[in-house]
Amino acid sequence: MKQNLTLTNIRRPNSAKSETLTIENGLIKGWNLPSEGETIDGNGATVAPALLELHAHLREPGQEVKEDLASGLAAAAAGGYGTVVCMPNTSPVIDDPALVRSLIQKANGLGFARLRPSAALTKGQAGKQLAELSLLKEAGACMFTDDGRTNEDARVLRLGLEYAHSLGMVVSVHAEDASLRADGVMNEGPVSEALGLPGNPAAAEAARVARDLEIAALTGARLHIQHLSTARALDLVREAKSRGVPVTCEVCPHHLTLTDEALRGFDPIYKVAPPLRTQADADHLLQGLLDGSVDCLATDHAPHTRAEKEQDLLHAPSGIAYIELAFPLMYTRFGETLGLEKLLDLFTAGPARVMGWTVPTLEAGQPADLVLLDLETARKVEPQSFKSKAKFTPWAGEELRGWPTLTLVGGEVAYRR
Ligand SMILES: [Zn+2]
Repeated sequence: MKQNLTLTNIRRPNSAKSETLTIENGLIKGWNLPSEGETIDGNGATVAPALLELHAHLREPGQEVKEDLASGLAAAAAGGYGTVVCMPNTSPVIDDPALVRSLIQKANGLGFARLRPSAALTKGQAGKQLAELSLLKEAGACMFTDDGRTNEDARVLRLGLEYAHSLGMVVSVHAEDASLRADGVMNEGPVSEALGLPGNPAAAEAARVARDLEIAALTGARLHIQHLSTARALDLVREAKSRGVPVTCEVCPHHLTLTDEALRGFDPIYKVAPPLRTQADADHLLQGLLDGSVDCLATDHAPHTRAEKEQDLLHAPSGIAYIELAFPLMYTRFGETLGLEKLLDLFTAGPARVMGWTVPTLEAGQPADLVLLDLETARKVEPQSFKSKAKFTPWAGEELRGWPTLTLVGGEVAYRR
């Protein structure tokens, strides 16, 4: 039996009333009961279900110089996340049931966010031969994806979707046409032309999304489109949803808050895949959050070493790591536009619905995976204090509100400011 814990002086979202919440044996016992066991003063913070991250690169095994389970899951807990789905583009690729088991076991002992590994759809993520999906599911893989790579062979994706569907599993895709993207390092448009840099056209994403939507419709299988970045691709998803195609999609905060204009300084910190697009794209994606055509937010936390990211734009790897500040960033920039309830939905219930998981709530009997959010105090982003190994970020020095002060996972403290 775990110790009981009582959170005092906390508020439910959009409530001014100070309440207490008691946790027993890893579950929510109830509201405003007599205090039991250890007591933590929430100082008026807002309580919510812990955030769910469907897209993070934790780099273990093989790339621990960038990140590892301990640093990545500690960073996630500091960002208010209780559960993280890690991507399988590691070295070796996570396409082996034994590896899935060992990652889950290792993460369980760390005491940070929970790990739900995704596994490769194809062996070695080579896109040729399906991985042992059934055995990977048995081992604990929660989703199949070749993210980090694109699924160039449409027939292999079809077979993978059919197989995953028979197992009741979601397949997620990095939807870019590799041949159309070619060697583009940023969004193709006036800015790439002005800078003389090879562009990656919006059409590379839209064309691939169109193809994959057809395959989802053909198979009836659950397809999830990762890090949607263009207005055109979102329109295609919206249209497919209106026809009942079983598709969901995620948008990343960096595609909402940054544009290709950021590349004018030639700083590779802004190099991501898919690339930062135009303000019109960002505005359209925000509209998609509001009208429900975007299902959830995901960060695509993609840490690299500083040396790797300090190469020139043509050679630096793609990715931004900011799982620790995703909620404050979104709350500060779009809290008023979206409203707290919608914003929390996009970080919690939204991802759960994508995965077919129980939608987390604050009711008695639910797992005590909780976050306390300080919605009042503005604090500067300080990369040197990140738990992540990637101690640099485009938002360094920015004043944000909405910082997590406490993250509980199964009733245990996974992060406390
Ligand atoms: Zn990707």
